[in-house]
Amino acid sequence: MHLKTLTLRGFKSFASATTLGFEPGVTCVVGPNGSGKSNVVDALAWVMGEQGAKSLRGGKMEDVIFAGTAGRPPLGRAEVSLTIDNADGALPIDYSEVTISRTLFRSGGSEYAINGSACRLLDIQDLLSDSGIGREMHVVVGQGQLDAVLRATPEERRGFIEEAAGVLKHRKRKEKALRK
Ligand code: ATP
Ligand code: MG
Repeated sequence: MHLKTLTLRGFKSFASATTLGFEPGVTCVVGPNGSGKSNVVDALAWVMGEQGAKSLRGGKMEDVIFAGTAGRPPLGRAEVSLTIDNADGALPIDYSEVTISRTLFRSGGSEYAINGSACRLLDIQDLLSDSGIGREMHVVVGQGQLDAVLRATPEERRGFIEEAAGVLKHRKRKEKALRK
């Protein structure tokens, strides 16, 4: 399993549709300060279900939508799609290629899809939760966050291990069931 493409449209500084391609192995994103490198990482976390605006370096979720520049008006929605190569069947779904997408409207609504079919956020979280990729911090270590990982409390550290071991999915389901 590896990431194939990431498409951003109206996400942060990426007003026009922009697609990044990845190959198996290590990918480096380089560029001048403020050119959008961290925004690409934010887009990855966001499409995989990140719910915390602060983790995305914003004050509120709407901050991920292109806010406009001197020459370009703000946009009404942000869209990110991530295509994952699933030829090895690492994701529990019967497709050799899986595209997850997330859209947020400035009016407040949001949409999620797996291979073009509308779904819930929970479906995306479920799909990814045992795969070794996801929105949790041990996977996406942001600029300046390394310290936080090193200083994690024993509880937080257990969370990282649980996700890696595939236990978190069942814990989330249990918590959800108990809330009903
Ligand atoms: P550094 O090397 O300093 O870490 P970087 O390449 O990681 O820089 P980013 O933090 O990804 O840069 O991008 C910052 C830019 O994104 C800023 O110019 C900021 O104005 C722009 N930006 C962030 N959110 C939005 C938004 N909602 N609409 C438009 N532009 C945005
Ligand atoms: Mg950065």
